[in-house]
Amino acid sequence: MSGRGNLFVISGPSGVGKGTLVSMLKDAEAAWVSVSATTRHPRPGEVDGVDYLFMDKQDFLHKADDGGFLEWAEYSGNCYGTPRDTVESHLEAGEDVILEIEVQGALQVRGSMPEAHLVFIEPPSMEELEARLRGRGTESEEAISKRLQAAKVEMDSKMKYDYVLVNDDIESAFEELRGYMEQER
Ligand code: 5GP
Repeated sequence: MSGRGNLFVISGPSGVGKGTLVSMLKDAEAAWVSVSATTRHPRPGEVDGVDYLFMDKQDFLHKADDGGFLEWAEYSGNCYGTPRDTVESHLEAGEDVILEIEVQGALQVRGSMPEAHLVFIEPPSMEELEARLRGRGTESEEAISKRLQAAKVEMDSKMKYDYVLVNDDIESAFEELRGYMEQER
């Protein structure tokens, strides 16, 4: 392997299926997937250190002040951030890295690492997104409307990404995403 790995940043509204796509990439060993820190409470079944590094707000803000995050943002009332050191060490080792993060964070990465490849996953329609969010059954009604509100703002940023992909069918979205990554390597 020669040189640094590639950094792929994947964003899209909550419920669009980006988590599923990222775990398919992980299973295919297409790249190393960064584990983010968050102040959000774990959902049932989520494991600390695997799904997220769950932190309280004070520790999170300390780490942010110390420059410990490559990017971080507030989303839907909670803080989320990408630990800088693990991403750096994987890139240094020549491995490709995937960040699954929201739009504000992705644009921070664009500023600090212009060589990053930014991919936006969009739903076939807003109605379909709402149906998927409700179907998931993990969020309260209030959280669902916050996320739908955030989705509208996020969709306005899709033109700032290098590649936009519609997740209509998960298998074809996965193939398309892998094809894009291959081409950028
Ligand atoms: P969830 O609460 O559904 O797990 O995540 C909410 C949003 O935060 C999603 O859009 C997810 O991609 C984003 N997110 C997860 N980790 C990070 C991170 O490290 N940084 C940023 N900026 N967003 C993140």
